[in-house]
Amino acid sequence: MKYLIQKFGGTSVGTAQRIKDLVHLTVNRDPKIVVLSAMSGTTNALVGICEQLYKRDMAAAATQIAALREGYDKVISELFTTPEFLTKGKQLLDNHFNHIQSFTLDMFTVNEEKAILAQGELLSTALFHFYLEECGIASVLLPALNFMRLDEREEPDMNYIRKHLNKELELHTNSIFFITQGYICRNTYGEIDNLKRGGSDYTASILGAAIDASEIQIWTDIDGMHNNDPRVVSKTHPIHELSFDEAAELAYFGAKILHPTCILPAKKANIPVRLKNTMDPKAAGTLIANILTSEGVKAIAAKDGITAITVKSDRMLLAHGFLRAVFEIFERHKTSIDMITTSEVAVSLTIDNAQHLKHILEEINEIAHVEVDENQTIICVVGQLPKNKSGLGFKVLEALKDIPLRMVSYGGSSNNISVLVGSEYKTTALKALNRGLFNYN
Ligand code: ASP
Ligand code: MG
Repeated sequence: MKYLIQKFGGTSVGTAQRIKDLVHLTVNRDPKIVVLSAMSGTTNALVGICEQLYKRDMAAAATQIAALREGYDKVISELFTTPEFLTKGKQLLDNHFNHIQSFTLDMFTVNEEKAILAQGELLSTALFHFYLEECGIASVLLPALNFMRLDEREEPDMNYIRKHLNKELELHTNSIFFITQGYICRNTYGEIDNLKRGGSDYTASILGAAIDASEIQIWTDIDGMHNNDPRVVSKTHPIHELSFDEAAELAYFGAKILHPTCILPAKKANIPVRLKNTMDPKAAGTLIANILTSEGVKAIAAKDGITAITVKSDRMLLAHGFLRAVFEIFERHKTSIDMITTSEVAVSLTIDNAQHLKHILEEINEIAHVEVDENQTIICVVGQLPKNKSGLGFKVLEALKDIPLRMVSYGGSSNNISVLVGSEYKTTALKALNRGLFNYN
């Protein structure tokens, strides 16, 4: 049997009404696993509660827990109509909030934090499951903590997941409608863990790969990936088809709609990913698959918060091994490099995580001269870029002719041309490219 995976993000389960609306998007005769995020705002609220608990500010923690509980009481009263399910809903909240409350008593460590962060997805899935039950619709709630597991490298343990997910499914051979939690998992020691913020997309992709799903659908509030950032430029259009490589570039370089980690498991297992809009379910959305898409530029994306580092040394001239020495410093500090450009005596590179910058710079300073520019933005043009045709590079640079470019990267892959600009030029750059590459004014 082939399952469909349908993942709904926080806003798609953000109110009682939105939870009710899921029924007509999920209930049909296709065998499926529905993956839910926490209701929007919940994970942030839980993070806030944990911050207070770390500080041992019990009064502040209690106030925030009470406020969150109040919100859920309202959800229950709007979601259920029968006394039986109103009581069931209240018991559910009592259980989860008593559990959260219990951490205000003892020591607070990262393990307790992870147990608290797991409550959001446990709540949203249980609420949807109860709502279906109240409507007389059969569904099975699969506890993600029984099969989602990370290995010792903190990567999904695909063999374990496949085996234990199938075991769970086999307990319910008469069912075709399953619901489970996104984001939460266990680590290699069996402790509660998570796939990091926004990780529910990743859950969907991992599950799809584990059971060889027919398709992985990611439902959000926009009709697929757009050719440019709709928050910045006034005219955009959804992209109907993307290859996995194009989607990976876009997701990584700022298209907020899909978490970048989500692409890899689906790509490896060759399972199509479809981005759909809960507000407009009939809209085609975006299909991401192992396909050769048409030639040309598909989209522009931007990633802020970039730090550019230029390493300059006369020793680089005609020498070998210099780049390795530089890159090793970043490796030692577990900092990944995104963009690179070189000249004969210098190399410029960018990082998006400046946590270890101070130590990195100290070490580079021992072998070379180094300069740093903060507040940079990578603007990335993605598509199938023709190798043997001229003109595209020119078009990109022509569109950006009035903007100072800090770095230009062309030819690293046939899917991406990137430029680095000061973040103050981001809006102008996205608008100029929308005009130059898509003729949108
Ligand atoms: N609830 C988690 C978060 O807000 C995971 C997710 O929504 O994907 O980060
Ligand atoms: Mg989310």
